[in-house]
Amino acid sequence: MSNQSDLIILGGGCAGLSLGMHLANSGAASPRTLILECRQEYTNDRTWCFWGGFGSDSEKLATHRWESFSITTARDRITRGCKENPYLMVASKDFYQSAQEVIAQSSRINVKMDSIVSGEIFKKGECWHVETPTGVYTAPKIVDTRPTVPQSNDFQPLLWQSFLGEEITTEEEIFDPGCAELMDFSASSHDRILFLYVLPFSKKKALVEATVFGPDPLKAEDLEESFGTLVKQRLQGRSYTSGRREHGILPMGAPPENRQKDPSCVRAGLMAGGARPSSGYAFQRIWKWSQECAMVLATGHPPISHAQDPFIIRTMDALFLQVLYSRPDLAPEIFFSLFSTVDPVRVARFMSDRASLADCLSIMASLPPVPFLSELAKTMGLPCDFKKEKGGR
Ligand SMILES: Cc1cc2nc3c(=O)[nH]c(=O)nc-3n(C[C@H](O)[C@H](O)[C@H](O)COP(=O)(O)OP(=O)(O)OC[C@H]3O[C@@H](n4cnc5c(N)ncnc54)[C@H](O)[C@@H]3O)c2cc1C
Repeated sequence: MSNQSDLIILGGGCAGLSLGMHLANSGAASPRTLILECRQEYTNDRTWCFWGGFGSDSEKLATHRWESFSITTARDRITRGCKENPYLMVASKDFYQSAQEVIAQSSRINVKMDSIVSGEIFKKGECWHVETPTGVYTAPKIVDTRPTVPQSNDFQPLLWQSFLGEEITTEEEIFDPGCAELMDFSASSHDRILFLYVLPFSKKKALVEATVFGPDPLKAEDLEESFGTLVKQRLQGRSYTSGRREHGILPMGAPPENRQKDPSCVRAGLMAGGARPSSGYAFQRIWKWSQECAMVLATGHPPISHAQDPFIIRTMDALFLQVLYSRPDLAPEIFFSLFSTVDPVRVARFMSDRASLADCLSIMASLPPVPFLSELAKTMGLPCDFKKEKGGR
């Protein structure tokens, strides 16, 4: 393998492999591409869920689908059908395998495992130089998908979504395999947004995740206690056996606009606009970006990063996060109101970057007005007399 290529992708995770896969599908038009991935091998380290029914190729990778979902608070529970836009799940092992198979069919794309990119990447003449312990690689174009690079230190999202999940198997039949339990706030407190997320695979098996939206990213060990409490409460003390685990920390907030001086090197992925600010969901956005970026690269142009969200979505997401940050006590009510009053088709479109103006208005109308107007007034620098009433709208 030559150390010189047309494009180097730093990081072969969701974004790096998605781009590699779409470049492989571009045939001879694809730049000769090297993907440098620090892992020695891929494992089933995560599950990706998203709303389907929008015709994306990625839906073919899904191994589970739920045609209804539930939201639970300490007082209420609602179950809603979502047959038109089912909630889909892709296991990362299937994605990694499928991506590697597609890439292996192209002589123009190579994945080099066990290749940690160390030190600063730098440009000499027309080429970027990338150092790894096994050699220096050069290319005139770079797509950097590493989640943590020095420049990203200035991206401090307002909230982080931290979660710890485990696949559990119970002796008794206690899950409804047709219904994804998106948010169970039964154990949420006034100062902390904490909920249980349950993806049932059968009546006895599910992925259960304790999730926190908060100002600090939480390690797996920080979530251990909450996980134990929430699972015990959900299973009402019934015994279970533990399987695969996963932990994630997702940014909830928009990163600063990508103002790369040199368009031949761009950042992409979770920490570079890949994640939707208000939900942290990234899989479908990354997939879409990778299709567009591959198309641009195949026509000889420099790579592209994630496009900014439309103004109305940016504004709604920012306001939504600001309210969650200021009033974590209202989170159960806000999510319950949103999911119980808005047509699930509209919610799915909103969360999948396909919202119409009518969808946005419908979502706005479902939210408790006082905290949102109060935050809006603050953002606009207006005097604001809205009192913080306990649990009040
Ligand atoms: C457990 C978990 C569950 C998630 N669930 C969902 C979900 O349900 N729905 C959804 O939409 N999103 C979800 N996400 C969010 C998001 O989709 C994923 O984080 C996604 O993997 C982000 O893709 P990425 O390419 O930006 O990062 P990654 O997939 O993490 O890829 C980055 C790659 O860079 C490599 N790397 C890092 N540093 C270096 C280096 N110095 N040199 C070489 N390689 C390097 C890493 O090994 C990794 O393979 C989840 C995330 C996690 C962690």
